[in-house]
Amino acid sequence: MKIVDLLPVYDQSNGWHEILEPLPEATVLTGDRVCDYLVIGGGYSGLAAARRLAELDPSADIVLIDGDRIGNNAAGRSSGFAIDHAHNLRAKSFADAKAAAQAAIVMNRAGLDWLGDTIAANGIDCQWVQEGKYHAAATSRGERMLGQFAESLDAIDEDYSLLDAEACREVFGTNFYTKALHAPHSYLCQPAAMVRGLAATMPDNVTIYEDSMVTGVDYGPPHTVQTSRGTASAPVLVLATNGFTEGFGFLRKHLIPLITWGSMTRELTDEESGRIGGDASYGIIAAHPAGTSVRRVTTPHNRILVRNIFSFSKRSDFVGRKQWAAKTHRRSFERRWPQLSGVPFEHSWGGALSLSRNGEPVFGELRDGGVYGTVVHNGVGIARGTISGKLLAEMIMGEDSELLRQMQAKGRPNRNLPFQDLGVRINARARRVIAGREE
Ligand SMILES: Cc1cc2nc3c(=O)[nH]c(=O)nc-3n(C[C@H](O)[C@H](O)[C@H](O)COP(=O)(O)OP(=O)(O)OC[C@H]3O[C@@H](n4cnc5c(N)ncnc54)[C@H](O)[C@@H]3O)c2cc1C
Repeated sequence: MKIVDLLPVYDQSNGWHEILEPLPEATVLTGDRVCDYLVIGGGYSGLAAARRLAELDPSADIVLIDGDRIGNNAAGRSSGFAIDHAHNLRAKSFADAKAAAQAAIVMNRAGLDWLGDTIAANGIDCQWVQEGKYHAAATSRGERMLGQFAESLDAIDEDYSLLDAEACREVFGTNFYTKALHAPHSYLCQPAAMVRGLAATMPDNVTIYEDSMVTGVDYGPPHTVQTSRGTASAPVLVLATNGFTEGFGFLRKHLIPLITWGSMTRELTDEESGRIGGDASYGIIAAHPAGTSVRRVTTPHNRILVRNIFSFSKRSDFVGRKQWAAKTHRRSFERRWPQLSGVPFEHSWGGALSLSRNGEPVFGELRDGGVYGTVVHNGVGIARGTISGKLLAEMIMGEDSELLRQMQAKGRPNRNLPFQDLGVRINARARRVIAGREE
């Protein structure tokens, strides 16, 4: 049996998860469970893959296993921007770059449409709203980047509107931003509520086991995974395990594992909300890619979330940096809302995401005999993780579609460079310096 030697380990600090009602006790895998399809990972990708397998074959017995509670994973730790186009579109005027950017948007929107339909059909209460996303600048460099972004959107006929400093103040309740671009097609959500809700409303032929870390695997077929209290076997194994897929013996030196952090205030009082004004709910992505994302979260929560900083690490329990991240978040928060300097953060947390050097995903067969993977969503996990998991299920079931063919035509992550970790750290540091006040 192969030992799975890279495991997700998360503490209980994820604000999105902690502010919800406590979950009922987990169903833990015990005994020897045999099924038709075995999905490991209850993030966006694994949830989509399991649901779609079940939809396409209602008679199949599908098991999804997660090592943690669904909601406390990276999916539930995200900032809840369900976005349709990247922040750094490279559409420019080249025809092939334009076509690639448009195809990526079509793919992301297919993920968001399916997710939105699933949320609506199952009445999942996760504040899924099409509010769009703001890209906002606080420096002249940021304003230039916004201008370039607007040009990219023009090149691919995407609509947007621009806000001057006064309009920014009215919407965001701060004088911090000098210019913003609003792109209307994205959604915002409460990510932990969303993944919990997706898990709770799975079709009847899906069984979910949580708090069941897979620590060993025997590749077959049938493929058997081992947890501390049981085993599960199936002829088809889907790994939707984010960067932890390395622990299963795949993609070593092909993933760029990052940890990024968010912090969330305690609930604002009505007086504090009134002090800053602005809209009750919005999401801001900094014009500079190394800048700070912000969510103003609507009732019943009425909180503010900030997210920034990346660290190169395979380990999700990379907590040594949490204090440092929280301090940086504090500075970013007070720059934007000095009127709220007395409002503490109630939660600060980190989570894992994986990138690849060439931006290509892991999609399809990882190994002969029915071992599949859906990994690397490049920080756009809600849209891309969902569509990748859904299309993978369709591929396994022998379906055919234009989108599936597009996904299959994508490349694979290329090998990391020697000293990739050092390169990423230097790059992250340099980008932070350039981002300056946008952090
Ligand atoms: C702070 C933060 C903010 C982010 N903001 C956004 C955002 O606003 N929008 C967006 O689209 N994306 C965002 N992301 C990225 C997004 O969260 C990820 O891209 C997404 O979670 C990836 O989905 P996934 O299903 O591939 O992996 P995950 O969500 O990580 O799910 C993988 C699952 O596999 C399980 N697993 C792994 N190994 C094992 C094992 N051995 N045994 C059992 N279970 C295992 C894990 O417990 C986990 O539940 C953010 C990420 C972070 C950390």
